[in-house]
Amino acid sequence: MSKRRADDDLNQLRLKSRQSYLEKRADQQLALLAKEIEEDARLDRSKLSRREIADIDSRAQAYAAAVAHRSIDDTGVGYVLPSSEGVSKSELLNKKSKDDTYVSEFAQFESEQQSKAKATTGVSDRTRPQQTEDEYEYVFDPEAAIKWQSEAPIDYDPEKLRLQSMLNAAEKKRNSIDEVRKSLPVSKYRTEILDAIKNHNIICLSASTGSGKSTQIPAFLYESGFTKPPPGSSTPARIICTQPRRVACMSVAARVAEEQGVVLGRQVGYRIRYEDKTDPLATHIVFETEGILLREISSSPLLDNVSVLILDEVHERTKGMDVILGLTKALSIARPDLRIILMSATSNSQKMSQFFDGCPIFYVPGQAFPVDVHYLTSPEANYIAATVTTALQIHITQAVEGGDILAFLPGELEIITTCELIEDSMRKLGGRVPELVICPIYSTLPPEQQAKIFEPAPPGTRKIIVATNIAETSLTVDGIMYVIDCGYVKENQYSSRTNMEQLVTVPCSKASVDQRKGRAGRTGPGKCFRLWTRQSQYDLASETTPEILRSNLLDTVLQMKALGINDLLNFDFLDPPNSDLLISALESLYALKCLSPTGELTRLGRQMAELPLDPKLSAVLLHASEYSCVEEALTIVAMLSESGSLFIRPPPEKKMYAESAKSKWVSREGGDFGMFLRIYNDWVESDYSSFWCKDQYLNYKGLVRVRNARDQLEKLCDKVEIPMSSAGDDYIAIGKAFTAGFFQNAATLARDGQSYRTVKGGNNVFLHPSSVLKQMHPPVRTLLFYECVMTSKEYLRSCIPIEPSWLFEIAPHYHKKEV
Ligand code: ADP
Repeated sequence: MSKRRADDDLNQLRLKSRQSYLEKRADQQLALLAKEIEEDARLDRSKLSRREIADIDSRAQAYAAAVAHRSIDDTGVGYVLPSSEGVSKSELLNKKSKDDTYVSEFAQFESEQQSKAKATTGVSDRTRPQQTEDEYEYVFDPEAAIKWQSEAPIDYDPEKLRLQSMLNAAEKKRNSIDEVRKSLPVSKYRTEILDAIKNHNIICLSASTGSGKSTQIPAFLYESGFTKPPPGSSTPARIICTQPRRVACMSVAARVAEEQGVVLGRQVGYRIRYEDKTDPLATHIVFETEGILLREISSSPLLDNVSVLILDEVHERTKGMDVILGLTKALSIARPDLRIILMSATSNSQKMSQFFDGCPIFYVPGQAFPVDVHYLTSPEANYIAATVTTALQIHITQAVEGGDILAFLPGELEIITTCELIEDSMRKLGGRVPELVICPIYSTLPPEQQAKIFEPAPPGTRKIIVATNIAETSLTVDGIMYVIDCGYVKENQYSSRTNMEQLVTVPCSKASVDQRKGRAGRTGPGKCFRLWTRQSQYDLASETTPEILRSNLLDTVLQMKALGINDLLNFDFLDPPNSDLLISALESLYALKCLSPTGELTRLGRQMAELPLDPKLSAVLLHASEYSCVEEALTIVAMLSESGSLFIRPPPEKKMYAESAKSKWVSREGGDFGMFLRIYNDWVESDYSSFWCKDQYLNYKGLVRVRNARDQLEKLCDKVEIPMSSAGDDYIAIGKAFTAGFFQNAATLARDGQSYRTVKGGNNVFLHPSSVLKQMHPPVRTLLFYECVMTSKEYLRSCIPIEPSWLFEIAPHYHKKEV
């Protein structure tokens, strides 16, 4: 090889090495600048001085210029920043010379390499540039730390100061709570509302969501002495406020306790199924579900120690509320001293008032701001994808200071999918857009995560709440400016023809979408994005059909029978249910042996009514002693209440591990019910360990709730005289006990070898993808299902395989021949 060629090759190599070094360096510098811009974007501009804002803007300009100037020229990679005041640190990265002249990166590289070479070979060079101080890397040596003396006064007490700062923070919070309370619309009418309650034993109170009904009305009554103990007693009288949802009971009770500055569970508490956070001697205000109130009325028909009964969200017309309304009407005659308040978020209270003999209606004017409604120009096929796109569109194009986003979706699965898709897109966008705090909310979400929706998003970020219709009226979150409404809701629908109850996704009513829209206009003008066309708006039903007119009345009828209401057809309903629904419920209860042929409650029926469960589940517990498997039945029944949130959704990279962890419980024996039993027993064996749950991708808090529910049910079993017994892993005994309760929910494999047919009604149904029976080959021939969910098809969720002969053996009055 000639020397010249060798030199050429060497030069080529050097050039390449320079190029890559300089490119890397330029990229590093750009990355540093990008980081600064990202930090700047998080700052709350409203809290910055003009000078600081100008600095931020010029830094952003500098960054844009740097990106534009980063180019490879024939000398290497070089870029300059235009001189701009306030560019600060960024400029230093690029300007090594004092004057503004451009020093190419190539020249700089040459000089650095030369210096290094001379330094390592020990060649001295007077022309070698002096290393400036800021080029040294500073290494902190703890030995050489400087000692400091505090100027604090002699009596400086850090503990005292800590307490003082806590006190200041509490006072600040107190002041802000007081301010919020005072600013709520109902607070302006405190005197008038209290006077109305004193002067009338029943009133309707109509005020828009978020005006302070649920939190303030019980507090006003408490503060003005409505809970004073009756003469001769030291126990306070109670204010009961019902809520249609458990989440709302917990959340509103926590808020009122905070506002009153008391510990939750003492003066202010809540009662939901399996959880009683009240103190019989100290609680003045109780938030409870409608089901709990119905039980309370059955044990104390006159609600003796209650001074005020507040029925909140009456406009939701749950079936429990419709029975309570009828009972309350009778109660108001029997207890004229009892104050009854019917609270509603809609202005349509006339019907309610007429039902209560024209009781007065008190309207509290809301402080609604205008909401700009947007419709789709053409229909979107997938509302989840449309929600994600709309959310990102808002987030990217609208200033974060504007406000937060609230997106409505029908159910938990849709919410989880939407949150995952938004998270994924945000990850891909990286630091280019401000942070988006994603908060899902649905009824089975653990309470500690539910509370997250009320936390304000950090400055410079935005919050998106992805909710079921729980956020339509039950929970009010401040600061929402944008609402995205998919226009669907999950509804329980029952067909007396097929005796099947299904959870179906249906279009919302006009009343419901208007409530949702209203969430955007509470604190300022807002925007509502409806994921349907303007034309389809005309097709919406004006009101949601009350639950009592469309769902299975099995539990309602059992409750009413237990309350001594025998003449169901003449009960004072606000909207009398269809007689088909009542007759079908009576027939089912008769088949479950709760009712005698003359329609009276049997001993079994009375025992069932004591248990806070669906009558079919109560029947399982009551029959389990015949098959000596009460322990196992108790565990499965308690697990069914948490079955939707039992497993933690693993991050995509851990999905395989989670699936393999789950696979050890999957077996044909007992199907989904068997899996629930094995999981619970293994958890007990781990000594209720949270670490074990984490390893197994199980929801620890969910299992704690199962344990709590199981303990409560065990106590109730004792009360209704069900003796404990255990069948271990005898799935024949367990299967038979469940057949005794669920014989009406049987299905057999269809001819196609994949789908199933319900034994009564002959409906074509499918196994839900989450069911372990979906993995069985050959498929199970006959099964019982706990619930049927309607999405794209009718899916059976939580199933247990059975022998077809058991149906005839255990329920010959229902299944006339072997299937
Ligand atoms: P309404 O019953 O009329 O819908 P609420 O009494 O539920 O209104 O809510 C009044 C205010 O109290 C709202 O501004 C809401 O943000 C606030 N609030 C209610 N519950 C909570 C909570 N758990 N945490 C924080 N704020 C809450």
